[in-house]
Amino acid sequence: MKGPDISIVRCADYNRQDVLAAVRQAVGLLGGIEAFVKPQSSVLVKPNLLSAQEPQRCVDTHPEVVRGVIRLLKEIDCRIYLGDGPNLLGRKENIEEEVYEKSGMKEVARSEGIELVKFDKRRWRGKFPLTSWLDTCDHFISVPKFKTHELTTLTAGIKNLFGLVTGTFKTEIHLKHFKLEDFTKIVVDIYEEARPSLTVIDGIMAMEGDGPGAAGTPRHAGIILAGKDCVALDSILAKIMGIEPLDVPTTKEAAARALGESHIDRIAIAGEPLEKVIGKRFKLPRAALIKRLPMPLIKVIKHFVKHYPRVVEKKCIHCLACVQVCPNKAVSVKQGKIVIDYRRCIACFCCQESCPAAAIQLKSSMLAYIMGL
Ligand code: SF4
Ligand code: SF4
Repeated sequence: MKGPDISIVRCADYNRQDVLAAVRQAVGLLGGIEAFVKPQSSVLVKPNLLSAQEPQRCVDTHPEVVRGVIRLLKEIDCRIYLGDGPNLLGRKENIEEEVYEKSGMKEVARSEGIELVKFDKRRWRGKFPLTSWLDTCDHFISVPKFKTHELTTLTAGIKNLFGLVTGTFKTEIHLKHFKLEDFTKIVVDIYEEARPSLTVIDGIMAMEGDGPGAAGTPRHAGIILAGKDCVALDSILAKIMGIEPLDVPTTKEAAARALGESHIDRIAIAGEPLEKVIGKRFKLPRAALIKRLPMPLIKVIKHFVKHYPRVVEKKCIHCLACVQVCPNKAVSVKQGKIVIDYRRCIACFCCQESCPAAAIQLKSSMLAYIMGL
């Protein structure tokens, strides 16, 4: 008989013992860590570390969830490497140091006695380079955060793998594949190339609204999910958000390539039943709202409904992250102020995602404004 595809376990907050128990239960419901990872093997643990933020900002995977995964791996004597390629990598000296410190990963690595690694070596896989830690390690475990995403609507199982791309190539990918359809294909190409042995999702404090950076709004969801099939995991999260799995472009593309299960009725869930963890509908990112309209209407209005980044001067702390990250050099400093050149802007929202002060918000075109999008 087929076992469960994914598990859902409740966890109210980030109290260490509760999180350790919830991660253990979530993985245990699927057969335990040995069902996914060979004892005494080497394992890369990859959280979602978007930028240098404290855990309470809910931008990065919480360190206690990462600790929960590490503890399970230690029980089967694995060699564990912890790391991610944060957003600004390659644009600023020692960005990983700052991200690892603030996100709490440095403390987890120190207290658990494991190695914190940087994604500074790569191997080309067709159109993109991925961290060579995937080659060094026998297994790779993804530990994403459950968040909304301005471009892909949801970031969790599949989108977390974009962080495997090394150096400034993430920026180049945004520049070369700035259309959502193209960007989606690349993200799913990465999932096809580097499928995790196991994914454990931090959905205790999730994010809604204009995620995935500091402009999003933390939202309590109180759950940990685990599974191997990221299409199934993201499909379940879409339902929890109040949308359909195929409303998420990465899920739709991965399902079309038969990379996993997106039919909710065919996903076997262990632990909490889905209907018990669905609460109030999530507030969606503004740029994703147009996808909720009927397709014939989208085709007519799509050239007039646009969203662009806008700097809220009084919130800006002049860190210059937006200037450094913009793939098309559309952001600059003029007379001490951050200025966006809209002729160059490709609406990738990397600046908004990177802004630590939530000082970049979305500006709507006239029609989008009138339609309340
Ligand atoms: S200004 Fe922002 S949204 Fe526009 S291209 Fe640059 S990073 Fe992307
Ligand atoms: S807008 Fe945000 S990212 Fe850009 S300089 Fe100001 S605080 Fe930094």
